[in-house]
Amino acid sequence: MQIETFSPEETFELGRQIGREAKPGEVLTLIGDLGVGKTVFTQGVAAGLGIEEPVSSPTFTIVQVYEDGRLPFYHFDVYRIGDLEEMEEIGYEDYFYGGGVTMIEWANLIEDILPEIYREIRIEKNLEKGFDYRLITIEEVHRS
Ligand code: ADP
Ligand code: MG
Repeated sequence: MQIETFSPEETFELGRQIGREAKPGEVLTLIGDLGVGKTVFTQGVAAGLGIEEPVSSPTFTIVQVYEDGRLPFYHFDVYRIGDLEEMEEIGYEDYFYGGGVTMIEWANLIEDILPEIYREIRIEKNLEKGFDYRLITIEEVHRS
């Protein structure tokens, strides 16, 4: 599925739709350059889950947990991760295979430990179509 958005609000709204429909144990990954809108999208997902706490990128913690929504929400930003051992140390499996919804920004950096099935969300700019234009591709991934 591909969707074009023309403002941060539209990207947020798309995330909110995903959040409303999210099921326990779902893993969502976000791929895209710095400043493309991964966190905006994540904030929409959080809103769709009914989370009222402010959501920002967990820059210094790798994972931020939100418990006040319809389902627990585990927001990973692995941009600064050194190696996969750091993921082991925080016990990532409890999140990925738990009953909440997991969102992973920069998931391509930890590809080897992603679950067998997840939903990948790729966000891309196209400056020819304007500064606020984003192409968002959502795809179910089955690793073999
Ligand atoms: P990332 O998490 O990918 O580094 P952020 O979500 O923190 O990026 O920031 C995205 C920036 O791009 C925000 O300043 C936002 O207002 C801006 N922006 C402009 N147009 C869009 C759009 N269509 N969708 C999402 N963000 C947009
Ligand atoms: Mg971010």
